[in-house]
Amino acid sequence: MKKHTIVVHGGAGTILKSEMNEAKEKAYNEGLTAAIDHGYAVLDKGGTAVDAVVSAIQQLEDNPLFNAGKGAVFNAQGGHEMDASIMEGKSREAGAIAAIPNLRNPIVLAKDVMNHSDHVLLIGDGAKEFGELRKAVFENDDYFYDAYRFDQWNKIKDTDSFQLDHTKKEKKYLGTVGAVALDMEGNIAAGTSTGGMTNKKFGRVGDSAIIGSGTYADNRTCAISCTGTGEYFMRGVTAYDVSCLMMYKGLSLQEATAAAIQDHLTQIGGDGGLIAVDVHGNVSMEFNCEGMYRAYRNPKESVVKIYRN
Ligand code: ASP
Repeated sequence: MKKHTIVVHGGAGTILKSEMNEAKEKAYNEGLTAAIDHGYAVLDKGGTAVDAVVSAIQQLEDNPLFNAGKGAVFNAQGGHEMDASIMEGKSREAGAIAAIPNLRNPIVLAKDVMNHSDHVLLIGDGAKEFGELRKAVFENDDYFYDAYRFDQWNKIKDTDSFQLDHTKKEKKYLGTVGAVALDMEGNIAAGTSTGGMTNKKFGRVGDSAIIGSGTYADNRTCAISCTGTGEYFMRGVTAYDVSCLMMYKGLSLQEATAAAIQDHLTQIGGDGGLIAVDVHGNVSMEFNCEGMYRAYRNPKESVVKIYRN
């Protein structure tokens, strides 16, 4: 099979060309391109979909433009708590971590939970302890400091509001990064990583850590990674919704992703989007807001997009 494919997203939301400048747009394009190129290089050498997903997401986690890893948003205490998950479509094994501080690459530890523990989801201090055991790389708080993110938080830190990343509207910010991949063996995988919402409190965890909501992969259907208002993706069990629509209703990838986002998620008031790939290399990048940072690469083409059109 020669249809190996990598797809990534860097968050969705109020992303308008009128509010972007050339330098910023270039930086986002370069960040997304680096992610698909790294993921694709893994696949092209015969690597697994899981490794391609991890490699692509690591690129985005190391880039301060995106709300994950280094660019993770500030929580109510002025710190950073990250969520991440990964799933493999052949065995349907999965791993996830939530509300973990100071971790450089949350997606790597999520993979370790999948491969080196008997569990699916580890949180907070326990996840940190597991990370130390796995020799995960932790950084001090300075590594996660970013003036733009600090300013985002500073504006709302003394209020009860929380905010998703790429939006002007208070209480509505969408960030997060994700990747889905199809390897040469015909296996698929999905992963998602996020800093969550600016000014989040009370141990808030979003869909990015929840298998079935923000991330899902099943070789019989497809691999999905979501981004948007996490509470709605959890209530809609959106990633699994896409898989179910294909499995039980026989919908195509495009039909299933459109139904999950444009009908089911929209009906309950959620906004955001998702990326998906099936075992034939079909790609979907569906969203119901103004824009979504997104890109894919396969043997035929390399595509990077930001706005709706
Ligand atoms: N879904 C993420 C969360 O709710 C945020 C995002 O995608 O921007 O934590």
